[in-house]
Amino acid sequence: MNEYKLYINGKWTDTVTGTVIDDINPADGSVWAAVHTAGPDETEAAIEAAHKAFPEWAAMLPDKREKLLLDAADVLERNTEKYGNMLIDESGSCFMKAMDEVTQSVNILRAAAGECRRIEGGICPPEAKGQISTYIRRPLGVIGGIAPFNYPLLLALNKVALALAAGNTFVLKPSSDTPVSGLILAEVFEQAGFPAGVFNVIPGKGSVVGDALVKDKKKKMITFTGSTETGRRIAVGCAENFKKVTLEMGGKNPMIVLKDFDVDQAVNIAAFGAFFHQGEICMITSRIIVEEPIYDEFCEKLAERARNLPAGDPHQIPTIIGPLINDTHYQVVDEHILDAVEKGAVLMCGGGHKGAFYEASVLKDVTPDMKVFYEETFGPLTSVIKAKDAEDALRLCNDNRYGLSAALLTNDLRLAMTMAPRMEAGMVHVNDNTVMGSRRAPFGGVKSSGLGREDSTFSIEEFTELKWITYQTEPLGYPTNM
Ligand code: NAP
Repeated sequence: MNEYKLYINGKWTDTVTGTVIDDINPADGSVWAAVHTAGPDETEAAIEAAHKAFPEWAAMLPDKREKLLLDAADVLERNTEKYGNMLIDESGSCFMKAMDEVTQSVNILRAAAGECRRIEGGICPPEAKGQISTYIRRPLGVIGGIAPFNYPLLLALNKVALALAAGNTFVLKPSSDTPVSGLILAEVFEQAGFPAGVFNVIPGKGSVVGDALVKDKKKKMITFTGSTETGRRIAVGCAENFKKVTLEMGGKNPMIVLKDFDVDQAVNIAAFGAFFHQGEICMITSRIIVEEPIYDEFCEKLAERARNLPAGDPHQIPTIIGPLINDTHYQVVDEHILDAVEKGAVLMCGGGHKGAFYEASVLKDVTPDMKVFYEETFGPLTSVIKAKDAEDALRLCNDNRYGLSAALLTNDLRLAMTMAPRMEAGMVHVNDNTVMGSRRAPFGGVKSSGLGREDSTFSIEEFTELKWITYQTEPLGYPTNM
């Protein structure tokens, strides 16, 4: 069995005040690795290391930071198969998702490298004769990142790579379900030759390490991805310490299917959007709002598709439905199905599980009085909801506290252009599914789904602060009696 240590100040370090935990493979319940976790002293040491490394890293010329990020991309790319297999074993990712996660992570590093030379300031109009008025962008200092389990490599790296590109140093706390996926990044950065202390990884409990990162006074920002409940706690902690925060949180993502759209294509799009990575994605299509004339046909065809999705061993290339992250999460899926069926929904398929493997499930006739309409399931369950017309679909779409991603399927360009801006989500995709990322678009949610945006210049804006600097080149006529 592999043993993984903490990565602090460029050294692999044994835990002293934390514990060594079992890292479980969710597919078979076996102990896959032993992982050292941080306690208060190790957390403090990691923050201190990042603090010490900051001045030199911030002053490093952008082309040097760019080169290090490109080298890290090469290291990761050379090890795609190795790290992809680790993602399968640790997070229950199926083969297609795991390999794509590594490939996208390589892209993140290369895109972040490109940002190093694009961090710019500006010139303002002068307020006095002879004044040169400028603003520059400065890195913040030490940033703490807290990551979830579902895309453990990509989502952590999307924060780390751009924060480092902007000249910050970083302390990462990965999810306790997927600590090794965070430590992979330490291996990659070490091999690429990053200076000690610039990047530190400290697995450990959210209530211990996460909380300490939020409260620590040396750090300037927390960047978080995870559930809305944890995000709220973190936001409160950051407010108390006047710390900047970005939050990428949960979703209950709607897809509106209007009556003019081809039903078979709608089913293709919805099946991917609802069941990729067994539904364990923040942007998963979990509420499909279908206009009445095509409703029954859509439900039948989607259920037929769900019944036939390949499930089982995530190492097998065709597998789509792998295990949930642990063998207790099925309870949430069960609870949502039972509540909905009790209140009149029809379970078209699924509803059963073997250990952590839950069947792809489709509920029809879901209404807003059911838990599944509002609460995130984070499993292979999607709900179909009947809408009278496009306006009714829009009302149902917006009737939710979440606002992460949304989709609209229609061939009516006028309707698309008037509806998409009115859909309450940070991201709206017309004629595509809700699960989408880009290295150049603003990623993030509104309402209870998020605060701030990620990717490219949008991340750079979050990870830097503006400083206004004026230079007075001619003496000004100040009053002499003051
Ligand atoms: P989670 O339970 O909220 O955990 C996320 C991270 O927060 C973990 O590292 C966790 O540590 C840590 N944490 C827990 N309590 C904490 C505390 N009191 N202080 C500081 N940190 C704390 O979320 P999850 O179950 O891992 O991930 C699933 C959720 O993430 C879903 O809601 C999903 O929608 C959301 N998500 C959002 C996005 C997005 O981009 N919007 C992307 C992916 C996932 P432990 O593991 O040690 O508890």
